[in-house]
Amino acid sequence: MRIYLPEVRLKSGETADYKFEEDLSDCFHDFSDGGTLKLLVSVSCGGGMVVVSGNLEVSAAAICSRCLESFAHLSKTDFTEAFTVVNEMQVEATPDIIASETANMLTVTGNYLYLDEYIRQLIILAQDYSPLCKVECRGICAGCGTDLNKSTCRCSKDQNLIDVRLLKLKELNIDN
Ligand SMILES: [Zn+2]
Ligand SMILES: [Zn+2]
Repeated sequence: MRIYLPEVRLKSGETADYKFEEDLSDCFHDFSDGGTLKLLVSVSCGGGMVVVSGNLEVSAAAICSRCLESFAHLSKTDFTEAFTVVNEMQVEATPDIIASETANMLTVTGNYLYLDEYIRQLIILAQDYSPLCKVECRGICAGCGTDLNKSTCRCSKDQNLIDVRLLKLKELNIDN
């Protein structure tokens, strides 16, 4: 995912809009499970800066934190970033090196703005650490392991909501 800056500069003040659709596993080594990304981005140049704003949509396999089923998780992130144009170009700068400088220093060198590493970091930051397959997911019964989305079990009926502290007391009595 790169943007050819001379094309943006031709727009003189107006934004140039770009759209990328990629397979995650093609772009990033650490997303080998697959998934797709859709990136809409508006770019403008001026005052020694390249300003980028857009919307990132990622669909990737995730494990539901309640029922442990795999599902396609969709996440959306809006972003705006200003990259400072720097002139010194490293002799052996590969697109990978430039992309990581772009992300870590928020600088841009040469004719291309390489967005891959910046987008990779956005995806990681936007990651949901307790994804749910659906808001009303009922999860797994802690007692018997039944997936409560698919069937019901007898556990909750049998327990009749006994206070855990009382259970502890009951154990103590048995031991004595
Ligand atoms: Zn679930
Ligand atoms: Zn159960």
